[in-house]
Amino acid sequence: MSKTGVLIIGGGIAGIQAALDVADQGVKAYLVERTPSVGGHMAMLDKTFPTLDCSACILTPKMVDVGRHPKVELLTYSEVREAKSNESGFEVKILKKPRYIDVSRCTGCGVCARYCPIEVVDDFNAGIGFRKAIYVPFPQAVPLKYTIDENHCIKCELCKRVCESIGAEAVNLDQEPEEVSLNVGAIIVATGYKPFDAQRKKAYGYGKYPNVLTALELERLLSAAGPTAGHILRRSDGSIPKRIAFVQCVGSRDLHHGYPYCSRVCCMYAIKDSILLKEHVQGVDVTIFYMDVRTYGKGFEELYQRAEKEFGVHFKRGRVARIYETPENHNLIVRAEDTETGEILEEEFDMVVLSVGLAPPDEITELSKILDVPLDEYGYIKEADIKTDIISTKVQGIFVAGTALSPKDVPDSVSEASAAAMKAVTFLRRRK
Ligand SMILES: Cc1cc2nc3c(=O)[nH]c(=O)nc-3n(C[C@H](O)[C@H](O)[C@H](O)COP(=O)(O)OP(=O)(O)OC[C@H]3O[C@@H](n4cnc5c(N)ncnc54)[C@H](O)[C@@H]3O)c2cc1C
Ligand code: SF4
Ligand code: SF4
Repeated sequence: MSKTGVLIIGGGIAGIQAALDVADQGVKAYLVERTPSVGGHMAMLDKTFPTLDCSACILTPKMVDVGRHPKVELLTYSEVREAKSNESGFEVKILKKPRYIDVSRCTGCGVCARYCPIEVVDDFNAGIGFRKAIYVPFPQAVPLKYTIDENHCIKCELCKRVCESIGAEAVNLDQEPEEVSLNVGAIIVATGYKPFDAQRKKAYGYGKYPNVLTALELERLLSAAGPTAGHILRRSDGSIPKRIAFVQCVGSRDLHHGYPYCSRVCCMYAIKDSILLKEHVQGVDVTIFYMDVRTYGKGFEELYQRAEKEFGVHFKRGRVARIYETPENHNLIVRAEDTETGEILEEEFDMVVLSVGLAPPDEITELSKILDVPLDEYGYIKEADIKTDIISTKVQGIFVAGTALSPKDVPDSVSEASAAAMKAVTFLRRRK
């Protein structure tokens, strides 16, 4: 039990950075992540704007650091169930869900997964492809320990037998949930976002037309470690698309079917992905249908100019009203109004990518009740003051960072995380 530690909830890039910065100041950091590995959405991205650096090359070293730091305790596959405020801080109860694996014995060799007969739709690959019922979410997972998905496991014990045969004896199908109690001085909420559910925009046919995909699915197709080893293939027939459209602001700046705010990252990731598509598919024609192109950050406008001038990406100012499919070949007709001329445009494409916005994750409502921290009108954590103090919340000792606060990119999430770590440690020292 520690009264001087900081609890960080959410192990995406913001939570990882906050934990590292707290720990580097000599203060104990407890990092709670509800999935089996830290990494969050950044682990799913292929490259990052504006430099087009490989996302894993930036994220993996930080994941490894946070996993090894002597002042960081990782609590993965765990959730905060209770938090009570007292004079010295917060008494917190955390539920460690059963992995059905003894992590001290699992070597991460993966032999068990080869023998497991059950295939499950792979969330990490945005639902494209399959994983086994015993799995690691992705090869660079931290910790690199397997987990049995209890919703799909049929308890055939094949994994247990094969694990015993190699002498590891790590599978324990009778493992129970465990409760961990902590007493911490401050809390940082870094629970991130969920991508906007594209099925809510019925006019775009996502989930109905196989060649309409979300930008997160495209990230996984672009990744050399993804389900198609970096090949861009149509879901309908496995062919290589030659005409690809992006539809911007899906779920963002939309009062009827989404959120009124701008999600800030979609213009830039569409520009990034359009360049990557040009590099992946020889001769591909890429068109981005946009309302305005928002390139507000350092190096962003330059990348936009390169996409248009150097790579020949077409930018069309138009709000897409509808997408139709031509059933015989599963091509897609995009119907949009050119907002400059008022003209109605109709163009045929082989694939359409929906630039989905960012939304607050569903679980945030429960967590806000547990922590007694208010949410804003959209469901993000409410800041103490939108002009001068976005890192503090209304509750003393509870801070927020990254997309748990509002939509934003990786550089801004990381900066807020460092600010939250600094505020949390300062708060803790003052309280002491
Ligand atoms: C298609 C797409 C492409 C993008 N491309 C780029 C890009 O090129 N460059 C860029 O800068 N940004 C990009 N972004 C934005 C980027 O994904 C975010 O800025 C970044 O991931 C935010 O990090 P985060 O830590 O705030 O949230 P997340 O990555 O969402 O991490 C939050 C973590 O918290 C965990 N969590 C949630 N609730 C709980 C709970 N109750 N208890 C414990 N754990 C919890 C989650 O499991 C997750 O691991 C892109 C976004 C999308 C959708
Ligand atoms: S559970 Fe056993 S077989 Fe599976 S990765 Fe761990 S050590 Fe290897
Ligand atoms: S017991 Fe479950 S996880 Fe293990 S091999 Fe059988 S189905 Fe797979």
